[in-house]
Amino acid sequence: MPHTITARWLFPVSGPPLPNGTITIQNGTILAVDPHGIRAADEDLGNVAILPGLVNAHIHLDLSGARGLVPPTSCEHFTDWLRNVIAYRGQCTDIEADIRAGIRECQKYGTTLVGDIAVNGQSWASLANAPMRAVVFWEAIGISQPRADHAHEAFRDWLSTIVPTANCRPGVSPHAPYSVRASLFERLAKFALPMATHLAETRAEIDLIERRTGPFVGFLQQLGIYDPDALANNIASIVAALPGAIFAHGNYLPDAISLAPQQSFSYCPRTHAAFGHSPYPLRRYLDRGFHIAFGTDSLASNPDLDVLAEARFAKQCHPDVSGAEILRMATLAGAESLGYANVCGSLEAGKSADLVIVPLPNSDEEPHELLLGERAIPGERRTIFAGTA
Ligand SMILES: [Zn+2]
Repeated sequence: MPHTITARWLFPVSGPPLPNGTITIQNGTILAVDPHGIRAADEDLGNVAILPGLVNAHIHLDLSGARGLVPPTSCEHFTDWLRNVIAYRGQCTDIEADIRAGIRECQKYGTTLVGDIAVNGQSWASLANAPMRAVVFWEAIGISQPRADHAHEAFRDWLSTIVPTANCRPGVSPHAPYSVRASLFERLAKFALPMATHLAETRAEIDLIERRTGPFVGFLQQLGIYDPDALANNIASIVAALPGAIFAHGNYLPDAISLAPQQSFSYCPRTHAAFGHSPYPLRRYLDRGFHIAFGTDSLASNPDLDVLAEARFAKQCHPDVSGAEILRMATLAGAESLGYANVCGSLEAGKSADLVIVPLPNSDEEPHELLLGERAIPGERRTIFAGTA
């Protein structure tokens, strides 16, 4: 039996918000989304917004035990933070439990799709059984030829052991330009799977890749893995090597480089702020046609895994970006980046009824302001994962 729900505001995201609009659902699939007055509602949820489930395009669930333990440094001392993350990882005892806790936290804030960067693909089993969709990006690190070969083989072995489902799909993530041999980017791209990599996150990374100078040289030398001939020679070559990739951050993308239509950035606003980076050029990137979705990054740099909190923070930081653009970055843009836009990311007939119900303040602002503005209500939300594909 179809079931029709209404609420104060319905946000299809693929179209303008609908006051007292209705969404009609049958067997977990959206049958119709209508303005008020077309269908009688079976259920009125009251002073709330109904949104498509939120999308977190960049997260590291395996660092979900790190909250408060590896505080971000200033961006000038980013390599110190990396050292601390390495030390933290070395003393983790129950990463599976951390991953499960991270998934629960995503779920309670309304996320129904994640792009998870996973050392050894370790989140696979938990995400394949979780009430959400995922791309699990197996994280590859390796500068020397033997380490790059080992990463390549280990990824191929992992791929042969997993069984992709409609809701849990494999991808691969060469970690970053400073930690991955240039040729490994190209070898991993040949798998033709979803890809993600950190890119242009710090000025130090640009100094290393474009000029072989800056703090990364000493950092890699201390780790005993510095090989100037093995790294990529410029950021543009990495962008060119990964045609459909999600690039995490892109805080300092050189001006001469553009993203192709199939490429995207995942922007992590509160992590960006925690490191004190230069203001994120969000308006400029959007005006250049770049595809951008939100991520939370990990609890090693972010206070929580709430994508709507990222969106609200971004709205404060970028008053020249509209509420509709911000909401799209938290939903449909992420689904597009992760290859799930045909099943979720917006409220449209035929898509899965993955929803989040967001309480609204008792005021009369325009709908995006109610959802994202100063009076927006923080906290846990009702999340509905329909699970159909
Ligand atoms: Zn990251």
